[in-house]
Amino acid sequence: MGLPIELTYLAASILFILGLKGLSHPETARRGMIFAEFGMFLAIVGTLFHREIISYEWIVAGLIIGSLIGGAISIWVPMTAMPQRTALSHSFGALAASLVGVSEFYVHGGEIATFKMTALSLEVLLGGITVTGSLMAFIKLQDWIRGTPITYRGQNIFNMSLLAITVGMFAYLIFDPSAQSLFYVMAGLAFVFGVLLVLPIGAADMPVVMSLMNSYAGLAAAATGFAISNNVLIIAGTLDGFSGFILSILMCRAMNRSITNVLFGAFGSEVTSADGAALGLMREVNADDIAVQLAYANQVVFVPGYGMATAQAQHAVRELANMLESRGVTVKYAIHPVAGRMPGHMNVLLAEADVPYSSLYDLEQINAEFPATDVAVVIGANDVVNPDARDNPKSPIAGMPILDVDRAHSVVVLKRGKGKGFAGIENPLFFKPNCGMLYGDAKSSLIRLAGAVQHS
Ligand code: NAP
Repeated sequence: MGLPIELTYLAASILFILGLKGLSHPETARRGMIFAEFGMFLAIVGTLFHREIISYEWIVAGLIIGSLIGGAISIWVPMTAMPQRTALSHSFGALAASLVGVSEFYVHGGEIATFKMTALSLEVLLGGITVTGSLMAFIKLQDWIRGTPITYRGQNIFNMSLLAITVGMFAYLIFDPSAQSLFYVMAGLAFVFGVLLVLPIGAADMPVVMSLMNSYAGLAAAATGFAISNNVLIIAGTLDGFSGFILSILMCRAMNRSITNVLFGAFGSEVTSADGAALGLMREVNADDIAVQLAYANQVVFVPGYGMATAQAQHAVRELANMLESRGVTVKYAIHPVAGRMPGHMNVLLAEADVPYSSLYDLEQINAEFPATDVAVVIGANDVVNPDARDNPKSPIAGMPILDVDRAHSVVVLKRGKGKGFAGIENPLFFKPNCGMLYGDAKSSLIRLAGAVQHS
């Protein structure tokens, strides 16, 4: 590869690193994204000058089709479907890596040096797992199949045996790359394993699956880089792989779980959640009463969740907050790390509505403040405010740190009805004496509240 291409790749890699650095803080995230986009542009342009390219027809066709699909997705996929979209992107990225691996193997047959064969097999192995694993995550997040863990007897042993056989084939191929059919069987098993890996994971553990898939897709891309000697792929793939891995660890910490517990914890665990009928009745409240409480409060904490995203209620929250602040009320936002359906989901939405970053408080900071909070307004959040996680060791989400909204003087929950959260379990918060339910779409409830505050 010529020097100009390598220099372009170097510039692209630096831009990727600056991009990641920017993405680590909401205030610099937009700039980080522009750096990363420009880096990707340079990486593509550099690759187009590769002297091994014989004809541009397929490349141009791919660029046009890919750009059309990417453009359509960015215009028409709603923000609420971002997690599914991200899962699909991981799947497509991994599919590209797997296809490169398979075609390289096909072209070179059994004549492949050990190092290259290792990279190639790893690429196809991780790529295959990620393609179907991410598709399963997409299907679960899209509610095409139930999002809770799907388990059966002997699942753990079966999965582990399949993985061991696949890894055994991987090891064999390194020493004997001429075993061509074994390579394709290994690739096929990797695809099957991806499905089986994600089936038993669900409920509140999905964020970890998403970040793990992100990590695997990156590592598959890095392996591709080694297999075809492409430096920018090695660097970008490694950055992606390890940042995804760090994110997985952070997500596990946020949920007080270990990676092994997430991956294998669904098996045989006896779990119970609170029974709605035994908890009593929920108390319905109306906007006028809540508006008076809000207008005369010293401190109000907004607690957004997935329902805020589906309702696209972030601007309405901001408007209500402005109104309260102009009356001297202190307004804070409590952000749970797994609220919504993707890491940083709430931060992205609130940033879109220009909520100042200084008003966002993470779990550790805000929990100490709830006892001194007059009203906690839960906007379409459920699992992340479920006190069962804290109080019931047999709950499926036991041990997951929650936002202690039930410790505020008064809680109002904005949701459409009696729908459960992502974990599919009852929430005792809604039955507590200090909690009132304001039913309706979150955005229209917030608009009603703002109107009522204005007249109070
Ligand atoms: P949640 O537990 O999914 O609950 C969302 C609630 O919002 C539902 O109970 C629903 O009740 C209500 N809702 C839905 N649409 C609404 C609308 N238009 N207006 C008002 N309310 C609406 O949400 P969460 O508390 O944010 O918790 C997130 C969950 O997703 C956790 O279990 C987390 O582990 C999981 N998860 C997170 C990620 C991530 O990376 N953040 C990824 C995958 C999964 P009604 O139907 O009654 O309205």
